[in-house]
Amino acid sequence: MPDPPMITDQRGIGHVYFESMLKYREKIAQVDGHTGEEETYESLLKRSIRTAITMQNMGIKPGDFVSMCTVNDMDACVVYIASLFIGAIMANLDVNMSTQEIIFFLNQFSPKIIFATPNSESVIQEVIRDLSGEITLVVFGETELNLRFADFTRRYENEDKFKPREVDNLEETAFVVFSSGTTDRPKGICHSHLAMVSHNYKEEGCYTFATFHSPRMSVFNRFIHDTIRYGFKRVLFRGFDLEDPWKVLNYKVDFMLLPPIASRAFLKIRKLDHLDLENLKMMMVGGNHSSKEHTMGLRTILPKTNVVQGYGQTEVFSRILKFSEDQRELSLSQKYPDSVGLPSKGICYKVVNVETEEVLGPNQEGELRLKTKHLMKGYYNDESIDFLDCEGWYRTGDLAYYNEDRCFFITGRAKETFKYRYHHIYPKEIEDVLLTHPSVQNAAVLSVAHEEDGNRPIAVVELNTNEPEVTPDEIIKYIDERVDDKYRLRGGVKIIKQFPLTPSFKINLSKLKEMLKNNLI
Ligand code: AMP
Repeated sequence: MPDPPMITDQRGIGHVYFESMLKYREKIAQVDGHTGEEETYESLLKRSIRTAITMQNMGIKPGDFVSMCTVNDMDACVVYIASLFIGAIMANLDVNMSTQEIIFFLNQFSPKIIFATPNSESVIQEVIRDLSGEITLVVFGETELNLRFADFTRRYENEDKFKPREVDNLEETAFVVFSSGTTDRPKGICHSHLAMVSHNYKEEGCYTFATFHSPRMSVFNRFIHDTIRYGFKRVLFRGFDLEDPWKVLNYKVDFMLLPPIASRAFLKIRKLDHLDLENLKMMMVGGNHSSKEHTMGLRTILPKTNVVQGYGQTEVFSRILKFSEDQRELSLSQKYPDSVGLPSKGICYKVVNVETEEVLGPNQEGELRLKTKHLMKGYYNDESIDFLDCEGWYRTGDLAYYNEDRCFFITGRAKETFKYRYHHIYPKEIEDVLLTHPSVQNAAVLSVAHEEDGNRPIAVVELNTNEPEVTPDEIIKYIDERVDDKYRLRGGVKIIKQFPLTPSFKINLSKLKEMLKNNLI
């Protein structure tokens, strides 16, 4: 069991960020990857203080909800830090949400104030008109009907005396983030100050992070944490450009974390001539399963970069498994390119047989369970969800095993497995083979109910437009020749133009299932 991390500040995460920004005030905190505009920590701190005072003057109190519906830009971070300074709880929307989704989210947490991009202003305006409770709308940009964010960052006489609020208890909720809803309805995940202040160790030896993530996702909060704590720089992009992934390198970033759907774009668009690849020290692929071939392909085109995997969950405010830049860890990642990583500081692990609750040893597959201070407090407004086992270990819901070198491998989601006759089917096993077909760009395997067999595996695939087209029958034949009889695609193959994605670029399985059910594919 690793040593629990030392808690440095009992006053809450607002104080940690405040002091860190003062310490690194001369350094660049963030760069807009689209315009090149830079901002120092001094300016970020000032704008955050001014926004905090403005919100306080408007009557926003500790425990009130604050929400943003915006892109990953220079202002988003200001509102988040300001909320932490005054003890308001941030829970964000996403600019791509439908009106229905926005209503669903706002009904959950009733924010007092919403900060929105000009593009989202009218939708939000319309939604909040029909909701009970008074909600102030603030727009990042020009507006005729609502408040302008620019007026929140005007100078105050007494701003130099500002100090963040001290929390009464580190268990207080610092922010809420909604799970991406890959398999389920999104759940509000409450992170405490404790989960954040106890995360006081450096995870990467990199200094300039490329970040593409919407403020609706936990990576937004995590990257702010990782960079502010050590005075690193964040280079912000509004999203990941699948058509031109290489432009990220213009800013000499040395770290990026990508979902496989994005890292695959680097393999697809091999535009290496004239590119400066010297600076990119680490590319971490995570958030979803990626194959050994994928990692090795990236290593071939990025020979100077440590291409590694990482594994995490919104529910845990730290990377759960990863390879760091330590030489021993890097050589293990070379040895096991399909491993998602080694244990991280501050987390205890066990792998359990879910039927017998027996704790398993190396090379035995079961559910991954954790104990850590970085775990969420719980789900917002839903105490009925039991996420701990009877000994207080957090059930990740992921199937995994570890080997004799303590490298972990994720083999699937406990929930996504299904039974064909008496066989357990792990969709990932079939998806891996599908992805070896050059014409298959992306794949998801689901189950269709069947009278006699219980369930049968069905594949939905997105084709790689740069390769010759294939038919569903050709894909079925390709799979049948390569898998065990039980894994044959007896439910068929459907071709989809574009997968529905979650905000974290994962295939939205619940939407996909609905589309299949309604014969929309
Ligand atoms: P989220 O909370 O949206 O980040 O999703 C977390 C889930 O993504 C995990 O429970 C895993 O099922 C999956 N996941 C994350 N990283 C990996 C990885 N490296 N390999 C396989 N699955 C992953």
